[in-house]
Amino acid sequence: MKEMTLEGKTALITGASRGIGKAILKSLLDDGATVIGTATSKEGADKISKFIKESGGKGEGLVLNMSDTDSIKTMLDEIKEKFDAPAVLVNNAGITRDNLLMRMKDDEWNDVINTNLSGIFHLTKACLRPMMKQRWGRIINISSISGMMGNPGQCNYAAAKAGLIGFTKSLAKEIASRGITVNAVAPGFISTDMANAISDDIKNTVVEHIPVGRFGQPDEIATAVAFLASPGASYVTGTVINASGGLYM
Ligand code: NAP
Repeated sequence: MKEMTLEGKTALITGASRGIGKAILKSLLDDGATVIGTATSKEGADKISKFIKESGGKGEGLVLNMSDTDSIKTMLDEIKEKFDAPAVLVNNAGITRDNLLMRMKDDEWNDVINTNLSGIFHLTKACLRPMMKQRWGRIINISSISGMMGNPGQCNYAAAKAGLIGFTKSLAKEIASRGITVNAVAPGFISTDMANAISDDIKNTVVEHIPVGRFGQPDEIATAVAFLASPGASYVTGTVINASGGLYM
């Protein structure tokens, strides 16, 4: 039987309605955590609640828009009413608005920076105090190899994801002595709605450069997150796990 290493702990996973976030939610549920997963709509949140219930686990789906500070506050108030403060925070929600820089509109830049980076600043800051009090916490940020190697058409996204790595390492140094670890996972190309938006031609070209020879699956990212969230990962902080099938090494 699987060891319930996160029993009694609340884990908050943003963007858990589909893709990588959904796989992370499942994995932390298997580890015994009470899981709160977010979606941008009420329907999405209800689906998450249904999934948790049907799995026989504890937790709920809640609505969250990472680019809206009021939405972050409302969600945290709801968590406060019903659950213990999150001991595990997985900043997974993210968007792309790809365009070459020459053509990139202000909105495309701002939407990505606000959702993928500034929202994480607001949410993480709000989750920190209870973790400090407990002297235990796990913060896991989902970055991207785009932020490490660059990608044409993704100046906005790569800037946010690279920024998230700097954020991860700085915060790790600030709070390491409080029993809180802060790490990042940088996926390569993972089969989700986000990656499925890429044309088949480009996909085939990309695969030729991936040593493992295929796109990754969401649960191959969730495995890395579950490790970082586990009590056993207490000496791992400020690190970035590249999970890209060898595309970036
Ligand atoms: P996805 O399938 O597009 O799912 C995105 C998730 O984020 C959904 O749950 C979505 O909720 C939520 N979301 C979107 N906008 C949001 C907002 N403004 N506020 C809060 N939540 C929002 O994405 P994915 O491929 O699983 O990606 C998950 C994370 O991995 C992202 O940070 C992404 O940048 C990163 N990543 C992905 C890949 C890849 O190849 N897939 C590679 C590297 C890094 P709704 O369902 O309600 O829209």
